[in-house]
Amino acid sequence: MDNDRICSLFSHKLAARKAGFGWIGKSCMLITPEHGPRVRWGSVLTEAPLPAVSDPMDERCGSCQACVDICPVKAYTGASFREGDPRKVRFAAELCDRYFHEMKERNEELVCGLCLSIWTKTSVFPVCSRIS
Ligand code: SF4
Repeated sequence: MDNDRICSLFSHKLAARKAGFGWIGKSCMLITPEHGPRVRWGSVLTEAPLPAVSDPMDERCGSCQACVDICPVKAYTGASFREGDPRKVRFAAELCDRYFHEMKERNEELVCGLCLSIWTKTSVFPVCSRIS
C-alpha cells in the first residue's frame, strides 16, 4: 500500500481490465457486464502463458454520471478512463480519504460506498440495464 498516493502498489482492477473482464468506469472501479462494480478482485502473478478472457472492453458508461453525482465530497471528476492517464484525472482519492478520517474523528461508523451502491438502482439509472 502506498499511503501517500492512497493506492496499492499493484492494481487488480487494471489487471482485470487488461484480461478482458470489464472496463474502468468514471468511479475508477472495474465494471463487469455481469455484475457491474460489485466484484472483488485478486491477482496471481505468473509467467504462465494464460489467454485473456477477451481484449480490454470499451467503456459502456456513456453519458451516465450516477456514481460521480452521488459522491458527497465530489471526489470524481466525471472524466472517462484513458489508458496512461494518471488516476487523479478521474479521482481525487484524498477527498474520499479525508471524508473517512472526518467520520472517524466524529466516532461515526466508517461507511460510504455510495459510488458502488448506486449501481443497484437499475430502475433509476438506466446505465445499469445497458450493461446486461
Ligand atoms: S466511497 Fe463515498 S466519498 Fe468515497 S468516492 Fe465513493 S461516494 Fe465518494
